[in-house]
This record gives sequence, C-alpha cells and structure tokens, in this order.
Amino acid sequence: MSGGVTCELVAWAAARVDWLREGLLGWFERFGRCFPWREPGRSAYEVTVAEILLQRTTAAQVAQVYPDFLRRYPAWDSLARATPAELEGVLRPLGLWRQKARALQRLARSLEERHGLMPETRRELERLPGIGPYTASAVLAVVYGQAEPLLDANLARLLGRCFGLSQTLSRSSRRRLLQALALHLVRDERSLQVNWAALDFGTLVCRPRRPLCPCCPLRSACAYALLLEPPATPSAGAP
Ligand code: SF4
Repeated sequence: MSGGVTCELVAWAAARVDWLREGLLGWFERFGRCFPWREPGRSAYEVTVAEILLQRTTAAQVAQVYPDFLRRYPAWDSLARATPAELEGVLRPLGLWRQKARALQRLARSLEERHGLMPETRRELERLPGIGPYTASAVLAVVYGQAEPLLDANLARLLGRCFGLSQTLSRSSRRRLLQALALHLVRDERSLQVNWAALDFGTLVCRPRRPLCPCCPLRSACAYALLLEPPATPSAGAP
C-alpha cells in the first residue's frame, strides 16, 4: 500500500477494512475479554482513571487494583485529597506507580477547578494535565460515544500487518495511513465494540511476537499471513 492514500481510503482498502471489522466483531463475540472499566454506564471519572492506569501496564494487572481504587477514591475530589503516600501505596502493584500517582493527582486537582466536569472536545481534553491524544480518544469514545479509533500499538500492528504497511514508510506517512484505516474501521454504530475487539485481538491473536496466523480468522485478507504462506483457497467473502 503506497503512502499516497491519506484521509479517504481507496475503495479496495475501505472494503477490506469493512471485512476486517466484521471479522473482529465475530471474534469478539466469542473471545472478547470483560474488564470492569468496560461495564456499561461507567462515568468519565472511572473511564479516565482506567486509561491512566492502563498506560504501559497490562489490563490484567489494572483489573486487580481498579475496584479497590474506585472504592477508596470514588470521584475526582477524593482523589485530589488523597495523600501521595497513600495513593502510591494503592498503585504500587502496577508499574510506574509514582508517575501514575502524580498524574492522577494533577488531573484530579485540575478537574476540581472545573467542578469535576470533564470536557467534551479533544482540544479541551488535551489541555488537561496527563491527558494525551490516546486518553482523549478513549474518553470521547467510551464516555461520549464518539466513533474515535483507539489507535494504540495493538491496532497499529494489526492494521500494519493486514495491509502490509512497509516499515520503510516514513513515520508520518505510516501514521497517516494507520489513522485513515483506523478511522474507517470504527465508522460503525458498534464503534466501541470494534475498538475493544481490536485491542483484544491484538493482545491475544495478532501478538507482537509469534502471532497466531494459522488459526486467525482474518488471515485470508492479511498481507502478512499471505507472505508467510499463501492459502490454497481464500475464505468466502474475503476482499
Ligand atoms: S493472520 Fe497473523 S498477522 Fe494477520 S491479522 Fe491474523 S494473526 Fe495478525
């Protein structure tokens, strides 16, 4: 795939993304993971805390501390008032617990000044301390139901492999292509499920090392798998 495709995808790429979306959703129905922060009705506070805790930490680790964290600190004001030592103690089982404790408290204090109201636009969200593009996307997607792609390493790897995006592309070209593909992927009324499906699929199947290509439901439309071993008979409907 060349670097000439940017915001709007060419028809064949759009069709392949549509096919991947359905494949991911089908897989997610059977194998998707359940985490407390994915439960319906989670508040902006609960979603944002989860996203900060998940930074460079596995979901399984975060799931162990998350319920206790919310019991101790159910809202921004209680988090803002926590002592650093107490907060670090709660977060100690996670990696980067000092940074996370500092980031959460800075954010809590900033939001207290806004009476606990979480902004609803990317621009305002990214002005808050500790909220980068990915966390802003997560808030927009999970809390406000917007079709925002959660373009993390999992989704980037999955799309990069499926579309055979060359590592020789410049970083900015690769980023633009991935963004266009990811945007199309979540252009669907089930956008949040698509995001979660891609996260889980990238973690469990399209893993960084030794991806499970032989039993992958997406392999017939995956450039990476075709390079390894062209299938004798493509799956029905694969673009
Ligand atoms: S076939 Fe392999 S590389 Fe392609 S999406 Fe599946 S697991 Fe990933």
